[in-house]
Amino acid sequence: MPRKSSPGLSRRSFLAASAALAARPAFGATASGSFDVVIVGAGAAGIAAARKVAAAGGRYVVIEATDHVGGRCITDTRSFGVPYDRGAHWIYLPDSNPVTKLGPHRGLEVYPAPPSQKVRVGRRNAREGELEDFLAAQVRTTRAIADAARKADIPCEQQVSNDLGEWRATVEFVLGPYMCSKDLIQVSSFDFAKATERNAAAFCKQGFGALLASLAQGLNVQLTTPAKSIDTRRGISVDTAKGTISARTAIVTVPTNVVASGGLRFTPDLGHHEIDSFGRLALGSYDHIALELVGNPLGIESDDLIFEKSADTHTAAILANVSGTALCTVDVAGAFGRDLSAQGEAAMVDFASEWLAGLYGAEVKKAIKRTSTTRWNKEPYALGAWSCAVPGSQFARRQYLDQIADNVWYAGEAAHETLWGTVGGAWESGERAADAVIRRVGPFKPSAPAAAQIEASPASKPKRVRAEQPAPRHESTQQYFGDTPTIMREGR
Ligand SMILES: Cc1cc2nc3c(=O)[nH]c(=O)nc-3n(C[C@H](O)[C@H](O)[C@H](O)COP(=O)(O)OP(=O)(O)OC[C@H]3O[C@@H](n4cnc5c(N)ncnc54)[C@H](O)[C@@H]3O)c2cc1C
Repeated sequence: MPRKSSPGLSRRSFLAASAALAARPAFGATASGSFDVVIVGAGAAGIAAARKVAAAGGRYVVIEATDHVGGRCITDTRSFGVPYDRGAHWIYLPDSNPVTKLGPHRGLEVYPAPPSQKVRVGRRNAREGELEDFLAAQVRTTRAIADAARKADIPCEQQVSNDLGEWRATVEFVLGPYMCSKDLIQVSSFDFAKATERNAAAFCKQGFGALLASLAQGLNVQLTTPAKSIDTRRGISVDTAKGTISARTAIVTVPTNVVASGGLRFTPDLGHHEIDSFGRLALGSYDHIALELVGNPLGIESDDLIFEKSADTHTAAILANVSGTALCTVDVAGAFGRDLSAQGEAAMVDFASEWLAGLYGAEVKKAIKRTSTTRWNKEPYALGAWSCAVPGSQFARRQYLDQIADNVWYAGEAAHETLWGTVGGAWESGERAADAVIRRVGPFKPSAPAAAQIEASPASKPKRVRAEQPAPRHESTQQYFGDTPTIMREGR
């Protein structure tokens, strides 16, 4: 049996260490009056929105429920001694991704992901002809979904042809759970077809979460401050465990499932359409079962992505030797992944080790050392992986182009029509919401330090604003990369 990851180490302690931001007194800036905007959530969307408002000289505060920034894009350096992205890892479309475009990032190495994937057929690698059949089956199915989406928003599953034969289950896994975090029966053909093709990707050696956290440095973020409710009757009042924050506007970036489950309440209640849209864009299930596999027992290259030619949905994807380390993740998703993660960490690790043994031989089990699993459906401030519209619901994403309540905008991956489910999409959506706020309550008064410290994305720099009023105080955040990787191999 593989060893479990350090039993004495709590999630709180490693996240605190890996993403520590300087602790601040609650709502320090309120002394100078209420804020122009309160931003709820310090994931990609919240960070992007804050940077944009800061660059425009606005007075803002970001309140974050957990003890770290990054949300679903967080790097853990404790579990394995090397960067381990517990959420997002692939930097899609790096040439146009706003997160990479904001570089260069000091001390961070971004490099291209291998362009192709591998497939395991039983105990051997797929032959070239088999790979061609598999890719052809994927392309056919993708085209069939796109064709159907020209006419109706139906479940993608209806477009999976019966004559895919022995590749059917694999194609269903890759296009459904792996790409959308849901089985194809639950995926809207419109949503699938509108998604920008994510065919180029990069990795950050120090972790995507580390890269994102570096972009939050200098921002006014209040950690461990969950918002309980937002009252929009007389300006904006956000009720938190540490007190009430007043602002002229709010940008809410919490995941759809958190709002849908009542984790954040509104007074007066949100309208029917707004509430409905959070349910229509429910998050799917996607988890990493991370294993330290010493000695490269799978005999594969760094960052290899491997699928199994499977007979049913009880399958997974491997990302092997992450950034040249001994870290491999076995990713489970969709209905199968949801059921498995509900059974707990031990069941997840058992599945991963048995499954790998089936593909690479029983010896693999002996090479498994430390392990760690994510269980995003159980994280109270996420409650799932990423949004994917249920059939007939893609229109709900457009709902977020406008405010969802008086002076309240919603931003996050769910609010992006083509880059949903990605960090880049969340970022762009956060910037869009900030633009809306700036249009509503700007131009702001002087905020030279904030504007000087934080630059907005190059593509969308705000117009210069006149300086008239002192800026809110911004303490710089602590350096993120404290830990020296211990099992990182040299010379990638
Ligand atoms: C396992 C997994 C793998 C993924 N892989 C990739 C990938 O490879 N590439 C990619 O681009 N994307 C990937 N994604 C998706 C990506 O992580 C998300 O799309 C993106 O990070 C979402 O950013 P966000 O700002 O919209 O939301 P979040 O990152 O969820 O940020 C919302 C923030 O709000 C906080 N919050 C919640 N409730 C409250 C409250 N009441 N008060 C205050 N704060 C609150 C949360 O703690 C969180 O910090 C993956 C996601 C998962 C889970």
